[in-house]
Amino acid sequence: MKRRYALLVLCALVALAVLWWRGQKPQTVKRSRMIMGTVVEVTASGRDGLMLHEQIEAAFSEMERLERLLSPHIETSEVAQLATSRDLQVSDETRTVIAIGLEVAQKSDGAFDMSLGRLVEAWDVTAVQPRLPSADEIREALKGIGPEAIRLDGNRVIKREASLQPEFGGVAKGYAVEAGAKLLRKAAIDAGAVNAGGDMALVGRPEQREWRIGIRHPREADQLLGTLVVPGGAVATSGDYERFFEQNGERFHHLFDPRNGYPARGCQSVTVWTTNAAYADALATAAFVLGPTAGLELLENWPQTEALLVAADGTIFMTGGMEERIEWP
Ligand code: ADP
Ligand code: MG
Repeated sequence: MKRRYALLVLCALVALAVLWWRGQKPQTVKRSRMIMGTVVEVTASGRDGLMLHEQIEAAFSEMERLERLLSPHIETSEVAQLATSRDLQVSDETRTVIAIGLEVAQKSDGAFDMSLGRLVEAWDVTAVQPRLPSADEIREALKGIGPEAIRLDGNRVIKREASLQPEFGGVAKGYAVEAGAKLLRKAAIDAGAVNAGGDMALVGRPEQREWRIGIRHPREADQLLGTLVVPGGAVATSGDYERFFEQNGERFHHLFDPRNGYPARGCQSVTVWTTNAAYADALATAAFVLGPTAGLELLENWPQTEALLVAADGTIFMTGGMEERIEWP
């Protein structure tokens, strides 16, 4: 008798919980915060608003934790320490960022290069009054760089020369975005996204079943080139239109060809869709530097990856599976 009573109470509780749950309206919470010098926007959809806020907060905290390891502007970060030491024992997170970067460096024949920090400094394209560095300055900045200039031995990072300045800006943000998304994936939310400017990771499925991501036109500031329609994954865009200066009608942007030390000339933008935002970030930069032909080949051969490249003259190149995912305006 007692047992039957307990069962009844349990059934009633379950029914109440279901009723409460169904009474909660699906909602989307969106918040943004400045992390790694970028406005990071996190969205989460579900029925429990309080929980959505908590999960978004957790994702931000995780990304801020990574910022404290990876930001060159935070004195105590591992990346800042690496700038002033020959070798350094680092966390698993920093090691993973570097390992992903090294993989992309290798497969892109050195187009992606995490040792060109001095070159980035020499150009300083976002300075208030940027200027062209001299040929000598560029030559000097390129000394000793290359895909073997920074090595990993377990969690030990070894620079070939103490004077080398590491630059992880082409992969660290993507890694942080992916880490934020990983937390959201573990949470009981319907859908979510982490978006740091050009780097984005998707979680779950939105109400309309597919994600629609606008690809900016690289030359018409408020126009879309097209809309990428995907079930999930990560999307990154590298372009020459966000951080650049112009001199005598020529555009000097922030993605450098390590072979000559000048901004890469082959592309206006590259958009990569793949499974992981760290790879998407680094691959977009790598393909941009390689230019449309070699860049397309790199991305065509990368597993589970599709891409759209806009060449310097505006011609569009796409991997085999990309065409069917783009809606044109
Ligand atoms: P954004 O940061 O504007 O989104 P990207 O993600 O493509 O653009 O990465 C730009 C970062 O990559 C910059 O911090 C820049 O210093 C760095 N970088 C520039 N050229 C290269 C290169 N050839 N290989 C690796 N990183 C690079
Ligand atoms: Mg990138």
